[in-house]
Amino acid sequence: MTVSLPLVFDAPRRGMPPRHLADLDAEGRRAAVEELGLPKFRADQIARQYYARLQADPARMTDLPAAVREKIGDALFPPLLSVVKHVACDAGETRKTLWRAGDGTLLESVLMRYPDRATLCISSQAGCGMACPFCATGQGGLNRNLSTAEIVDQVRAAAAALRDGEVAGGPGRLSNIVFMGMGEPLANYKRVVAAVRRITSPAPDGLGISQRNVVVSTVGLAPAIRKLADEGLSVTLAVSLHTPDDELRDTLVPVNNRWPIAEVLDATRYYADKTGRRVSVEYALIRDINDHPWRADMLGEKLHKALGSRVHVNVIPLNPTPGSKWDASPKPVEQEFVRRVNAQGVPCTVRDTRGQEIAAACGQLAAEN
Ligand code: SF4
Repeated sequence: MTVSLPLVFDAPRRGMPPRHLADLDAEGRRAAVEELGLPKFRADQIARQYYARLQADPARMTDLPAAVREKIGDALFPPLLSVVKHVACDAGETRKTLWRAGDGTLLESVLMRYPDRATLCISSQAGCGMACPFCATGQGGLNRNLSTAEIVDQVRAAAAALRDGEVAGGPGRLSNIVFMGMGEPLANYKRVVAAVRRITSPAPDGLGISQRNVVVSTVGLAPAIRKLADEGLSVTLAVSLHTPDDELRDTLVPVNNRWPIAEVLDATRYYADKTGRRVSVEYALIRDINDHPWRADMLGEKLHKALGSRVHVNVIPLNPTPGSKWDASPKPVEQEFVRRVNAQGVPCTVRDTRGQEIAAACGQLAAEN
């Protein structure tokens, strides 16, 4: 298959929303406040409202004088994301939100509540340019990158909804973030890394979620994986491999034509070496496509050779997109696949797939709209 592959990690700031507080680091925040003729201390005061109180409406920042609220609102809180709809399932414990950005762009996030944690799956791009043929988002192509603030605000909004008891199970705390919604996070590299810093820094610089509870996924942009390894972060890297052989992967994950499996695994090993973190390998199991016993053996062998025990394989039963020829593997095939990968000394489990009935696979809700 011929696809046009992105040549740069960060496309120009096309269609980006105006600057928002969450786009700025501490220094940028202070400079912005000074530009407005306000004393520097207001910068941290506003940031505490946003990151600690989860307040995104300056009119409600009651510890600020009214005139300041208006100025701040105009300069640092442009309209960012508005809810188009929430769709819930799993007795309300899974909630998908379809958002509309200021320019009309649609994007999604999914909140999943478990007994011991609450995980938010967020989007890093509107659409995706990676063209994986089994994925709803991939079919529509890339619309645009999301800004840092558009990424961060998905998290702030979910944390506020949980705190305020809007999600079944009573008031709670958002604990985990996975960059597994729409888009290839490492194709929007600078904004995603800035968002990770805002999400994980303590207030007033960020939302204070532990770096260890953040997962950044990628289809394998090898140079960007190496760059991420050098950022000094300790987030978990999840590499979507989907098959251990280049021949099939060239079709399933077209970016493999640019960075084949050996290069992806080299970069992944570098990430594990630099960060000391175990990496995840994601494997969407597709009936009669990549679910063969020999592929399970080959996957286990290659991963064990490249990463030893510093890897965990998540098998994801494919969530078929409407009208697609791709389907999930039968349960016995799935079980045999998992058994064989484990037999190579590589831990492998089947991922709980929440939200199937609300089209929670990335891009499905936006595609329907
Ligand atoms: S699977 Fe992920 S990387 Fe591939 S097209 Fe879909 S969103 Fe993009």
